[in-house]
Parts: sequence; C-alpha cells; structure tokens
Amino acid sequence: MPSARRTPPRDEQPSRNVVPEPSKDGEVVPEEIAPGIHRLATDYPHVCGLPLWLHVIDAGSELVLLDAGIASTPESSTAPELAGLGLGLSDLTLVVNSHAHPDHMGGNAVLRKHSGARFAAPALEAGWLEDNERLLTELWGSDPDALDLSETERTELLEMLDERVRIDVLLRDGDRLPGERPLQVITTSGHSPGHIAVLDETSRTLFTFDDVQGRGRPYLGSSLWLAPLYTDVTRYTNGLTRLLELDFDALVPSHGDAMDATAGRRLIEESIEWVAGVDELTTGLLRSKGSLTVRDLADAVGTELGAYGGINLQTVRMARAHLEHLARRGGAETRWHHRA
Ligand SMILES: [Zn+2]
Repeated sequence: MPSARRTPPRDEQPSRNVVPEPSKDGEVVPEEIAPGIHRLATDYPHVCGLPLWLHVIDAGSELVLLDAGIASTPESSTAPELAGLGLGLSDLTLVVNSHAHPDHMGGNAVLRKHSGARFAAPALEAGWLEDNERLLTELWGSDPDALDLSETERTELLEMLDERVRIDVLLRDGDRLPGERPLQVITTSGHSPGHIAVLDETSRTLFTFDDVQGRGRPYLGSSLWLAPLYTDVTRYTNGLTRLLELDFDALVPSHGDAMDATAGRRLIEESIEWVAGVDELTTGLLRSKGSLTVRDLADAVGTELGAYGGINLQTVRMARAHLEHLARRGGAETRWHHRA
C-alpha cells in the first residue's frame, strides 16, 4: 500500500480492465475465478492509483470476504459487486483481514455496521488491527529521521482506516478458516510482520494478498512504481520460500491479476532475488561510504533500483530491515548520535 492517498491525474485514470463495466441492466458481474470464488472490484484504483481486488468465497455455512478494502470500499464497491451475485453485505458471515494495512482492513467498521459477520485476522497483528495510533506510530513513525508524516497524510490515512473493530478470531499458522470448505492459513510474516496467505485446498488457489511483491508494482497510468515493503529480511524470504513449497494451481495477489502456478512461482523467485539485490546495494554503499543512515539507504533503494520515488514508507522500512539484517550478521554496527 502507498504511504498515503494518491489521486491519479485525469489522464492516469485506471483502464477498464481494473473496474468492470456495468452490464446492460446496470449491474456489475464479478468474475468467478474458481468454483465458488468471485473477485470483487474496489474503489482503490480511483483513490490510490493501484488495483485492489477482494474475494468472496462460498464456504458452505460461511460466506467469507477476504479483505475489507479502505473505509469507503464496502458501500461504494463491495455492496454493488455482491448485488451482481444476488448477495448483500448482510449475507457475509466472516471477514478475513490478511494484514493490518488500511487497504485490507479499513472497511471493517462499515462492514460491521451492515452485517453480523465475525472478523478474523492474524494473531500477530491484533495490536495494529485494533489500534490506529499504534499502527501509525510503529509502521510510519519507526524512523523519524527518515520519514515524517505530514498532518494531511495523517488525516488521509485515518480516513482510510476508519474506526477499529475487535478481532473475533485470531489466526495462527496452520489454522483453518471456519466453514466446510478447507481454507488453510499460512503465516508468511513477510510484507507485514504477521501477514497471512490463504490456500483454498479445493481449487488449489493460493491467495497471497501483498506478500509476493517481485520488484514492486507500477502505479496505474504512471511511470512511478510502488516499491516492495517488508520489515525483516529473513522472515520475508522464509515466508516466500514456504509459499514455493505449497501445491497450488493459481496464485492470486491483491493488487494484480491471478497467475497460473508457473508465473506465480516465477514471481516468488523474483521477490527473493529482489532481496538479494537490496542486500548487495546495502553492503556496497556501506563499504564505499563507511556509514549509512536509514534515510540514505532508502533514498538509494528508491532511486537506484528503479523509479520508486525515493523516500517513502516502503523504501524506509526496507532500508531499515536490510541495515538490521547486516548488523545481526556482524557486518555493521547500529549507532545513535547526539545532536549538538
Ligand atoms: Zn499491504
């Protein structure tokens, strides 16, 4: 997810493959990507310039919504999308948040208002999922010298986040989601510290949400890219390696189109290669400069490795993760300096 709202200029408005056109009778018809699984378009491309898909799964006694979108998504997008399937928000019985980023859980409060659904999310991220201030401080505010949210950005983030909802079902690695359909939870801890993937064992569809990031993603209609985001190098690569070991026929990310197993595995491998590339850049810069701040490294990652816009949440967290990684291996020392 981006650092804050980014409204695409008029000539960058998302193309029609992102938001489905209404059918003749005015209703959108969501695509069925596997038996009993439909993908739902969202308003996110118009708000932040990136595709974002939610998925609804018929799990027998449960109607499961994978991810909630931002605060505006349920009423503007999910309700009309479900209507195209003859359903409504009130039919949902379980909402799963893959991780505690605004575009995956900002819609929780509105969904609670319109349905009796329970909320399930990674146990490791319950703190972020239930406390906006804590999320802003720990995620955006971790490196105050490198990244400082403006009041406007703060306000925009809080608008997308809305009010927090208590998580009813805390998910751990190896759990199965409630319902008759075998939906397995895999903790990847990559893109976000408690991030999960969900494997539908019936159709062998693997929902990876934001975890398999490759070299990042292009903003719609722009030359800028959103950089990958992770907070711990070893946990990110271990999570990706675990995904490679799973048996799946389709890999479904949140911010792009579904892929077959070959393309999915290739993207996982590219994600691991990206980490090695940043590691190399970090080591090389430290060797030539002698010392490096999170800000210096974030700027280098965000300009030298691609058009990632320099310093932002993604590059800052990545820079910090790689410096910590190097320090743990004894290749650098962490330092704080007194400012005169
Ligand atoms: Zn995310």
